[in-house]
Amino acid sequence: MSLRTKKTSSSTSTASLDAALRGIDELLGAVGLTHGTRRTRPPASKKTASSARQAAAQKKSAPKKKAASSPTVLRVPAWERYPWLVQGFSTRPGGVSKAYAPRTLQGEMNLGFTVSDTQKNVQRNREIFLRTLLEAKSAPPKHVALTLLRQIHSGIVYRVDGARPGDAALRSGDGMIAAQPGQMLGILTADCLPILVVDVRQRVVAAFHAGWRGTAARIVERGVGRMQAEFGSKPADLTAAIGPGIGACCYAVGDEVRNEFDSQFAYSDQLFREVYDSDPIKEKYPLLFLTARAPGHSDLGPSTHLDLAEANRRQLLDAGVGERKIHVLGVCTACHAAQFFSHRGEQGFTGRMMSVVGIR
Ligand SMILES: [Zn+2]
Repeated sequence: MSLRTKKTSSSTSTASLDAALRGIDELLGAVGLTHGTRRTRPPASKKTASSARQAAAQKKSAPKKKAASSPTVLRVPAWERYPWLVQGFSTRPGGVSKAYAPRTLQGEMNLGFTVSDTQKNVQRNREIFLRTLLEAKSAPPKHVALTLLRQIHSGIVYRVDGARPGDAALRSGDGMIAAQPGQMLGILTADCLPILVVDVRQRVVAAFHAGWRGTAARIVERGVGRMQAEFGSKPADLTAAIGPGIGACCYAVGDEVRNEFDSQFAYSDQLFREVYDSDPIKEKYPLLFLTARAPGHSDLGPSTHLDLAEANRRQLLDAGVGERKIHVLGVCTACHAAQFFSHRGEQGFTGRMMSVVGIR
């Protein structure tokens, strides 16, 4: 995807962010999604040094902190009709982290405590992101608790009943459900899929982390089952969103993944595709890559790619969620590293996005 510039930016300092935002606009337009934070950001044409100083002077009560551009948060438009629902997928631009942005002056919205970033920056980014999420609509809740997990690629789902004071240790698992006002559930990803599920009648929310292992462990199916068991959620009242993650275009997997899915899912063959390697080096120097293996068993052959979003969409369907109530963002994080952090796309050296669902 190209980041076409439709008009010349009047400010060089915001040019790369504007380009990133336009890129996101184009991505979202293609999949029928919008984001909701642009109005919190002044138009680039009016952003002069003096107006920035004025704005800074007006914020007397705010403690002096590192300047940060507003993050772009992706939201599910069909969910905007629920004023009690807090929802959003973070993206890369905005924030104060520089750890993964050596070539740009813009801060980034790393929301995971990664080795290369500072705890202070991540904490600040989390504050900015959460504030953006909560300010999007009317009154913020009195008490807000953001609960995260130590994600372990499992099928483990917790019911979260408010914060546990003094308990700083994160629980290990990959899914959470909650029904308390003020409770926000957060999932961190950089290629794995964040999946949000909402019972719009009973006001129950759920958030899941689904890489291939969690998907094979049926984290989403289990999670929806848990919503039914704990809160009596009915499938007809459920709606789901599959956030940004690695696409089938970039997600080459090994035989162990294929075998695991084949043994788990009757529709497994619909989740994989064969992709032929078009590496120009291999095309130019095929002799370097010749193997002695029998035809069909060569590394030169097609690689197997997994469609993780489709796998989880199928689980949501099996759990009874209506096809039209499943919103798939459908944007590949590895293809769009300017807009999203991608573990694969950046060989592991990257930040994390956060996906949040909660009750106001
Ligand atoms: Zn891709």
